[in-house]
Formats: sequence, structure tokens, C-alpha cells
Amino acid sequence: MLKGKNALITGASRGIGRAVALKLASEGANIAIVYAGNTQAAMETRDEAKEFGVNAECYMCDVSDYEAVGETIKKINDQLGIIHILINNAGITCDKLVMRMSESDFSGVINVNLKGAFNLIRHTSSGFVRAKAGRIINITSVAGIRGNAGQVNYAAAKAGLIGMTKSVARELSGRNITCNAIAPGFIETDMTNNLPEDIKNEYLKSIPLGRYGTPSDIAELAAFLASDKAAYITGAVIAVDGGLSM
Ligand code: NAP
Repeated sequence: MLKGKNALITGASRGIGRAVALKLASEGANIAIVYAGNTQAAMETRDEAKEFGVNAECYMCDVSDYEAVGETIKKINDQLGIIHILINNAGITCDKLVMRMSESDFSGVINVNLKGAFNLIRHTSSGFVRAKAGRIINITSVAGIRGNAGQVNYAAAKAGLIGMTKSVARELSGRNITCNAIAPGFIETDMTNNLPEDIKNEYLKSIPLGRYGTPSDIAELAAFLASDKAAYITGAVIAVDGGLSM
């Protein structure tokens, strides 16, 4: 279904990004794996993606670094070709109550989770416009919709990503480029594994479907939004959260 398309997924070394990369590879897309520093994990994703008979490469790049993102996009264009699908998934947390949150706790999360997505969109959008086609998918969070105690920085970044999604969707719609956001609920990855058991149990009680999500729950929707079948969906924010945010 995605045969011959080139997909860039940030944060594809682990968790949700890895599942998205492998799902898109299983549908025939070539994969650019952007990651922060975990080369071993990135190479494992790459090798697994290649088993689907597609091209896959790893690119270590801090998404919050505007210049580094520009250089990485050039490398990807040289090695894989133009990018058809961009998935802004890289993200971090630094949870603290607002009264204890330092300025760097705040700006660190904003720089990766929000400015990082801007950097990628900024450096890929001219290619999408020239091709008069493209799919941009931003991974936001239920925290960006509902807010979350202890996550003022993270929720602000994720809410900002929703505004960015709708604005980019409006700007690029005339060129047949769609931009949508997926808002995961509680997904079992490294990001949530370290949370204290009592907090995890509290979440579980408030999930109507009665289970945590898996990375592949998110990957299924990402693959659909990346496909031609989703041609008439843009500016949407779709929750994949077992009902947590309703
Ligand atoms: P994860 O398992 O912690 O993986 C994070 C990924 O992001 C890794 O691949 C990491 O690369 C990469 N990354 C981190 N900082 C980066 C940077 N500065 N530059 C480039 N790459 C960077 O996270 P996850 O749970 O899969 O989350 C993926 C996305 O979903 C995030 O945006 C997160 O906010 C969102 N989300 C997650 C949940 C959840 O419950 N898990 C819920 C809602 C939303 P390295 O491996 O190299 O460190």
C-alpha cells in the first residue's frame, strides 16, 4: 500500500516510533530512522525493517537542533530520495509539579516535543510542496487535550503541537498535503514503564477499555493516515486511548 514511498520517523529507535516504522515498512515504505543516541536500538529497527524488503537507514540527530535537522534532511534526500511521509514522534518527559519545575525542565521538553516538530516540518515542507503531495503526522498526547498534573511542560508542548498541526494543515492543503495528529493515551513503552505502580493503576482504572495501549495500536492509525485512503482527512486530532480522554 505504501510501496515506493519514503517515510521519515523521528524517535523510531524505540517504543511507538519503532512500531510505526515497522508497520510502514511492512506496507512497503522505505524508512529513515531518526533517533537521539541509542544507536543499537536504531540499528535493530533498521534491520527488522529491511526484512520487509525495503530500504532503511539510521540518522542520529537531535530534533531540537534546527541546523542538524536541516543537514539530516539533506542526507536522507541524497540516500533515500524525497520524503513522502513525515512522522513527528520523538518526545521526552521531565515531570514535576509546576512549583518545582525549573526553566530548563520546561524549555528542554518544549524544544524536543514542539520545536522539534517545527524543525522537521520546516526542512521538509518545500519538498512536499514541490511534489504537490505529502503526509505529516504529529504524535501529540491526551495530555495536550486534557492537561495533566505534573506535566505542565509536556502538556503545553503537546497542546502546541495540536495548534501546529491545524495551522500546517491549513497552509499546505492547497498542495494536496495533509497534516494530522494522533493523541495516544497510556501506551506501554520505556516512557511509561518507569512510572510508579500506583500511578499506572490509577490510569488503568480510568481507561474504559480496561487495558493500556500498545505501540501497534498507534502504528495502525499512522499507517492509515499515511496512505491514500486517508486523502480527505486533514487537521484532525485522533485519540487512540481506549476512551481515556472522552
Ligand atoms: P520512548 O519509548 O521513550 O522513545 C522515545 C524516542 O524518541 C526514542 O526513539 C528516542 O531516541 C527519541 N528521542 C528522544 N529525544 C530525541 C531527540 N532530542 N531527538 C531525536 N530523537 C529523540 O517514547 P514513546 O513512549 O514511544 O513515545 C513516542 C511519542 O509518543 C512521544 O512523542 C510521546 O510524547 C508520545 N506519547 C507517548 C505516550 C505513552 O504512553 N508512551 C502517550 C502519549 C504520547 P533514543 O532511543 O535514541 O533515545
